[in-house]
Amino acid sequence: MSDDDLFTSERLSAAQSAMADAGLDALLVVPGPDLRYLTGYHALPLERLTCLVLPVSGPGTLIVPRLERPAAEASPAVNLGLQFVDYPDGVDPFPLVTDALKDFAAPSLGLSNQMWAEKVLGLQAVLPKATFGLANQVLTQLRIRKTPAEIAALRRAGQAIDEVHKRMGEWLRPGRTEDEVAADIAQAIREVGHATVEFTIVGSGPNGASPHHESSSRVINDGDIVVVDIGGAMPDGYGSDCTRMYVLGPTVPDEFRAGYEVLRKAHMAAIEAVRPGISAQDLDAVARDVLTEAGYGELFLHRTGHGIGLQGHEDPYIVAGNELILEAGMTFSIEPGVYWKDRFGARIEDIVVCTENGAERFNTLPTELVHL
Ligand code: ZN
Ligand code: ZN
Repeated sequence: MSDDDLFTSERLSAAQSAMADAGLDALLVVPGPDLRYLTGYHALPLERLTCLVLPVSGPGTLIVPRLERPAAEASPAVNLGLQFVDYPDGVDPFPLVTDALKDFAAPSLGLSNQMWAEKVLGLQAVLPKATFGLANQVLTQLRIRKTPAEIAALRRAGQAIDEVHKRMGEWLRPGRTEDEVAADIAQAIREVGHATVEFTIVGSGPNGASPHHESSSRVINDGDIVVVDIGGAMPDGYGSDCTRMYVLGPTVPDEFRAGYEVLRKAHMAAIEAVRPGISAQDLDAVARDVLTEAGYGELFLHRTGHGIGLQGHEDPYIVAGNELILEAGMTFSIEPGVYWKDRFGARIEDIVVCTENGAERFNTLPTELVHL
């Protein structure tokens, strides 16, 4: 399957019909996951303005700096019927946005969520009669439901990161620093097909008790329990994210072993509870209740999961308070954790897709503690 199956004009037309429902006249989308989602164009956010102007009907306009035009034209965006407009350095690009919106006297606009403030203010200055909201009021509902091509892309990413976990014994050894191990993991993440490394968490011993510890100069000791949470983005932009637990040696403290077995039950209970119709908060509660009933509720410091796609963290968030009803095609992590302050931590994480028949796991390695 190629990028052509992923980045089709169906996304633009779906966005346009969602805009019509929401009463938006146009979306203004700058480089970032929204632009990549809509066009396949992976542009870096720069001081120069790149902006997709997508009106509620008719073709969109992609405004790019002249020096970026070859890159834009080499992307899937070139096949989507967009009008390309470029401008040289030294020319103010904001009036080009006004030109693309000339059919609207006082447009209602949706801006991509991660637009820099300097771009927002520049647009407000040239569009004094416009009203501004966020593009995610229409894009979230599209991005949250993955197509079969997107699901296949995320499945490939999951299989790739599993290959890295399988090789952990090559790198994770006493006497090495977390940073050294993380550097080896990063190289392997690329070797198995990722284009970018998004994070390489190697939390050994007490560092494992901090959920988002990355890596450090700490030397890994015999007997250490190690949290390894790693992920990247494949060349098509779709990401991986998987956590497994390792211990350097044959034994672990009884206290850890007991907690870890409960954690495995919580993780599996949540995976088995995934189905269309359950709410995100109820799914969070499935994992949380298992841990709470066994006395570990206070040590589970974070939500159960997050969506994943072109962004490592996106909707749906599997968290208390989120009443969103899960549907087939939604992809997210299931990653309960237990953190014993200043001692050690444990987390198990798989990416899953909600299907009509329950969860399909993209990460399929066993969840038992791996002794190295
Ligand atoms: Zn993770
Ligand atoms: Zn995650």
